[in-house]
Amino acid sequence: MKQIVAVCENEQCEKTIHKGDEVWHKWHDLYCSSKCLIESFGSPVKQQVAEGVR
Ligand SMILES: [Zn+2]
Repeated sequence: MKQIVAVCENEQCEKTIHKGDEVWHKWHDLYCSSKCLIESFGSPVKQQVAEGVR
C-alpha cells in the first residue's frame, strides 16, 4: 500500500492522493486531475461574476 499524503480538494471527488502520484496544485490545495482543479476553480469565479452584475 502506498502512503496517502492528501485528499483531492474537489468536493465531488475527494479521491485519495498517494505519495508519488501526479497532482495538480491551486495555491495550497491539491487535486488528483486537471479536471478536478478546473471544476473547483470554475464555480467560485462564476459566483463572483454573478454577484458583481447585480
Ligand atoms: Zn479529484
